[in-house]
Amino acid sequence: MKTRVAIVGGGITGLAAAAWLEHDHRIDDLLVIESSSRAGGKIRSEIDAGYTVEWGPQGFLDNAPDTLELTRIQGLGDALVQADEGAADRFILRGGRLRRVAASPLAFMLSDILPLGGRLRLIAEPFARTRPDHDETVFDFARRRIGRRAAEVLVDAMVTGVFAGDSRELSLAATFPRMAAMEAEHGSLTRAMIAKMRAARREGARSGGPSGPGGTLTSFSGGMARLPDSLAEGLGDRLLLGRGVQKLQVDGESFILTTDAGDIEAQSVLLTLPAERAARLLENTAPAAVKPLSEIPTAPIAVVMLAYDANAFGRPVHGFGFLVPRGEEPGLLGTLYCHDIFPGQAPTGSLFLRAMVGGARAPAAVALDDDELIALVRAALERILGADPEPDRVWTMRWEKGISQYTVGHLDRVAAAEEAAGNAGIELAGSPYRGVSVNDCIKQARVAATRVVQRLRR
Ligand SMILES: Cc1cc2nc3c(=O)[nH]c(=O)nc-3n(C[C@H](O)[C@H](O)[C@H](O)COP(=O)(O)OP(=O)(O)OC[C@H]3O[C@@H](n4cnc5c(N)ncnc54)[C@H](O)[C@@H]3O)c2cc1C
Repeated sequence: MKTRVAIVGGGITGLAAAAWLEHDHRIDDLLVIESSSRAGGKIRSEIDAGYTVEWGPQGFLDNAPDTLELTRIQGLGDALVQADEGAADRFILRGGRLRRVAASPLAFMLSDILPLGGRLRLIAEPFARTRPDHDETVFDFARRRIGRRAAEVLVDAMVTGVFAGDSRELSLAATFPRMAAMEAEHGSLTRAMIAKMRAARREGARSGGPSGPGGTLTSFSGGMARLPDSLAEGLGDRLLLGRGVQKLQVDGESFILTTDAGDIEAQSVLLTLPAERAARLLENTAPAAVKPLSEIPTAPIAVVMLAYDANAFGRPVHGFGFLVPRGEEPGLLGTLYCHDIFPGQAPTGSLFLRAMVGGARAPAAVALDDDELIALVRAALERILGADPEPDRVWTMRWEKGISQYTVGHLDRVAAAEEAAGNAGIELAGSPYRGVSVNDCIKQARVAATRVVQRLRR
């Protein structure tokens, strides 16, 4: 087989890259080569007895223009579903109790989310020590700017929620680049937020509309898989499923990709694989990329979804859900209240909980068998919600290689890997590199598509 562009990996990055090549650059001579029997990678939705069971992402924030544009291109604009306003309340577990995260700064100062000393320390943020000149962990950054208690509770919970990661290991510059930029530009997060709010107000006044930079969690009716399914359908027979790429070699001006079912010759190659898989394929073509790629770890994660009757806990279970900072509930990272977030994803009169287990903090939990995993989650829910009713249904999902962890030095490793792969004429994109969210993957896919085209022109 011959193609102009070979995209290896049919997760959201690979599928989106193909769509951007067609849409932005009118290149349709391409193949997406995927080792498993289905497209979508970590995105996988199943409807079971009226419940939308998400194996991977629950949604994406609707503040990323590339994702919204791709959605429109795919004709899925009408299928978008935003998180319900009734799910506004978010909680953090502290001292074994769920505490509401207040929406306004004043309500926050009056809340019990942190002990009084921890809340007062936030006021001193503008006077924090200036940043060091080395890559700093998220925890060190937070402790320096907003104090130890806020770092241990709020920031640890946030890192858990996004990366299933350990705030003491992850690089601030790689995981929360906007925060690093806010400090660099304004010298303080408080000053940066005030400046942002003023700008948003000006912008809002001009456009006459609301301006919320945070975005709203959004999915599709039928679940997140609607997007990769639609992209896969558009590819038709240019999507090769069940074709793992085993080897990548240079042959004159072309690349030869050895797959389970024969060789493919390509003028250009884009790898959208887990980092350790990309490393393996680059052993011959870009050996200098192997070490930095091998040093990008992943955190395993398990998802347990439980369905109950609406009154099962004998108390209301309402809101967005809760996050669990380190030291509160061994193994449990957090729980989403899916019946409130996306009411259409569960039958009326039910509770639909999505518990996340494991992550970098408790990787061993993902190796538990189903009964043990469910028991861990139910015991934690009993301590937190005060009862252990029998669920009507339970689903368990595991990702051994769950979420890429951007540890300190990540951006240097990515730059080194990109340079080595680039020198060999190969592009890299996807969750191991510059953002793990669906939005970041779609954005990286667009940038990579442009680089592929520039390379082809050269
Ligand atoms: C439990 C969980 C919850 C999440 N929640 C959210 C969320 O709510 N919001 C959000 O924005 N993000 C979330 N994420 C993150 C996000 O889903 C992922 O980062 C993103 O989907 C990864 O896409 P990708 O294309 O980079 O990689 P993948 O989806 O991993 O795709 C890579 C593909 O490459 C294929 N492959 C591997 N080796 C080969 C080979 N040799 N040849 C050919 N193909 C190969 C794989 O089979 C796979 O399909 C979550 C992730 C997990 C695991």
